[in-house]
Amino acid sequence: MVKIAVVGGGAAGFFGAIACAEAFPKAQVRLFEAGRKPLAKVLISGGGRCNVTHSCFDPVQLVQHYPRGGRSLRGAFSRFQPTDTVQWFQQRGIALKTESDGRMFPVTDDSATIANGLMKALQSAGGELCTDARITAINRTDSETDSKFEIHLKRQPPWQCDRLLLATGSHPTGYALARKFGHTIASPVPSLFTFNVPDSDLRQLAGVAVDRAEVQILPPLDSSEKSQPNSKQAKLSTSKAKAKALKNALKQTGPVLMTHWGVSGPAVLKLSAWGARFLYDYGYRASLRINWCPDQSSEQVRAQILQMKDSSPKRAIASSTLFSLPRRLWRYLVERAGIRVADDGGDRWAHLSKQQLHRLVLELTQAEWAIAGKGAFKDEFVTCGGVSLKEVNFKTMESRLCPGLYFAGEILDIDGVTGGFNFQNAWTTGWIAGNSMGQ
Ligand SMILES: Cc1cc2nc3c(=O)[nH]c(=O)nc-3n(C[C@H](O)[C@H](O)[C@H](O)COP(=O)(O)OP(=O)(O)OC[C@H]3O[C@@H](n4cnc5c(N)ncnc54)[C@H](O)[C@@H]3O)c2cc1C
Repeated sequence: MVKIAVVGGGAAGFFGAIACAEAFPKAQVRLFEAGRKPLAKVLISGGGRCNVTHSCFDPVQLVQHYPRGGRSLRGAFSRFQPTDTVQWFQQRGIALKTESDGRMFPVTDDSATIANGLMKALQSAGGELCTDARITAINRTDSETDSKFEIHLKRQPPWQCDRLLLATGSHPTGYALARKFGHTIASPVPSLFTFNVPDSDLRQLAGVAVDRAEVQILPPLDSSEKSQPNSKQAKLSTSKAKAKALKNALKQTGPVLMTHWGVSGPAVLKLSAWGARFLYDYGYRASLRINWCPDQSSEQVRAQILQMKDSSPKRAIASSTLFSLPRRLWRYLVERAGIRVADDGGDRWAHLSKQQLHRLVLELTQAEWAIAGKGAFKDEFVTCGGVSLKEVNFKTMESRLCPGLYFAGEILDIDGVTGGFNFQNAWTTGWIAGNSMGQ
């Protein structure tokens, strides 16, 4: 009988263990989870609702949502993608629904539905779950006829197995175990966070939202020694060769929300994911450029302002909002452009000077703020970095360096933007590993 160990009782470990136990009923599948309760992240995910996946059913489109790992996932998604996830849960009596932005949740809006479904599926398939079972070391024993893994646990006797799936998420012990078998780990750094912007006037706008703005991150405004990239990798990533790619990748368009500590919203979260390593390298001190009129050129913005100046010369600039911007944001930008804003109305359009016009266009299309750190995003966060993808065969998720060792989920150097893409990585890689391990 083939003995299989799955280390890590999260989304990827459960999916791997279930797939393996279902596909190879004769195999003994044992899932080891360090915590007392498995699936802790599933339970807290999506604000307690679990954003299971995203209604993006074309693998080519789907991979665009992964700042790291998209290329490796291309083939994997042709085997198990969101359609399969929906069907998998449906077949086990769990229906998913799609929200207007494409995120998919259980119809119960309760992450416990997903966690309980996974536990029931493991049990029905005959897989064994061991909780409070932290793996402290793994040794490989090679004989002339076969190779085995010897798993060491805290307070329990070791367990021998033929195949091993590491699905420990971003936990350091998982990286250490992978390193022991010769794997390279891309250094782990956070992804999916908001930006801390220490501008008290901007923070006064907390709660103001814009449906569509373009946000971009650039090296910090001041080029003092302190703000120079602090690692070799940063120097590489800002080299000429990468400059063009960075410029395009570090720009996102979508909803932006002002908060009590700076800026948030889907566009900012996406930007934090694409720029995770760049921002880390700069110690989370960078320049944030925002174009509040992303669908118009600077010339079109200027022309619209001039039209207003001609048609309504007597109106106060601060109270005649343009470009469908929220009134409070418009007023703030007008003031930043050096235009007088006062209770009596302030400067009128007729008095708009050439210099003020120029500054107003700049404020609307390419104003910059200093980012002074990262803020929290409680609904989802993920780790950028992990096991190098070159060292894993994505047809099976088996290590290219150590036969019999498999990987799935966040332990890999794969991460997606917010919206259900991170769980989809866990489901897909877990499913592929599980279906390969019992052979
Ligand atoms: C607050 C929050 C909300 C999120 N919401 C969403 C969402 O709605 N949608 C989405 O797509 N993504 C979401 N994510 C991201 C998603 O949760 C992760 O990408 C996903 O859980 C990764 O699954 P995994 O199985 O690879 O790792 P994990 O879920 O981290 O599971 C790894 C498991 O391994 C165990 N483990 C570690 N080391 C050992 C050891 N030595 N021995 C035994 N066990 C060990 C850990 O205890 C853990 O249970 C969220 C993340 C957070 C933090």
